[in-house]
Amino acid sequence: MTSTSEHRPSSVIETIDREERGERLSKEEIVRLLEISSPAETERLYAAADVVRKRCVGDDVFLRGIVEFSNHCRQNCLYCGLRRDNTALVRYRMSDDEILASAYEIRKAGIGTIVLQSGEDPYYDRARLCGLIARIREKIGLVITLSVGERNYEDYRAFREAGADRYLLKHETSSQLLYERIRPGCRLEERLLCLTALRELNYEVGSGVMVGIPGQDIDVLADDIILLEETGIDMLGIGPFIPHPQTPFRDLACGSVELTLKVLAVARIVTRSTNIPATTALRTLDKDARTMALQAGANVIMPDLTPLEYGLFYDIYPGRAKSEVTDMVTLFTILRNDLQGIGRTIGSGAGHRRSSPH
Ligand code: SF4
Repeated sequence: MTSTSEHRPSSVIETIDREERGERLSKEEIVRLLEISSPAETERLYAAADVVRKRCVGDDVFLRGIVEFSNHCRQNCLYCGLRRDNTALVRYRMSDDEILASAYEIRKAGIGTIVLQSGEDPYYDRARLCGLIARIREKIGLVITLSVGERNYEDYRAFREAGADRYLLKHETSSQLLYERIRPGCRLEERLLCLTALRELNYEVGSGVMVGIPGQDIDVLADDIILLEETGIDMLGIGPFIPHPQTPFRDLACGSVELTLKVLAVARIVTRSTNIPATTALRTLDKDARTMALQAGANVIMPDLTPLEYGLFYDIYPGRAKSEVTDMVTLFTILRNDLQGIGRTIGSGAGHRRSSPH
């Protein structure tokens, strides 16, 4: 007679060991890892993710300086404070010269990458953005990540030819139903086609998920991780949902920090060599979460270096942990101290994904 134990799911440790031997985890196993609830097993999961992180991407923590250059957005996502129906928000656009000045500051601080981020703002059309990319590339020499939403293929190609290296386009959820509910008028299929186009154009491609979206469950989160792996995403942004008072989701609860960290840890174990930031949203909910994320698989920090007079209005969710900086020297001192405490160092260079063609 077969004993019950033979039918019991393998332990967390066995599951992780199998992954370490190069065996792919099934969806059932990913679900099981996400469902871990005992503190000891949770710690084991984080420790395993940390081992995979160390082996696949090393101890360096790469910095990406974010400049949020426009908070105008034509979309109306139900969870986001930049949604077009939020008429309470003061809107702004930074001039090219202001963006360049921020890029110089980032360069001066020794950060190798600028992330140019905005809502979906048609004002920055192909020609305008290409001009900006080319100027930053030629005059300042930073690696350029774009995070400007969905564009057409010719735009992506032009941005790439102008000098953009990376593109962030979070899909937030792999569930078509949820996606189309939280992003009215948008289609998941189109989002995924954009990610395919970006890969074809040889960008390093970033995407990611939001943990705690209403209607999401562990099954959907497992599908999210599988989708990130199967589409060969290079950078994964995994952050908790935080309700914004000027959105239809204002009365909902925040996503769980612990579940977000578990998703991050499992994503590290499954995707191995990807770049994974310790997101600002995590630190907004728990000031220690950045360190926790770095010890559960993360290897990137993205300080928000938007000039304060604008950054205050990049109000995607409330209480955003503004960079603890008033100046770069202070930023570096704080980061260095934090990282030293957990045996990590600030990485130099671009911090491209190791296995990427770059
Ligand atoms: S999530 Fe992005 S596309 Fe949606 S409203 Fe916010 S900035 Fe716009």
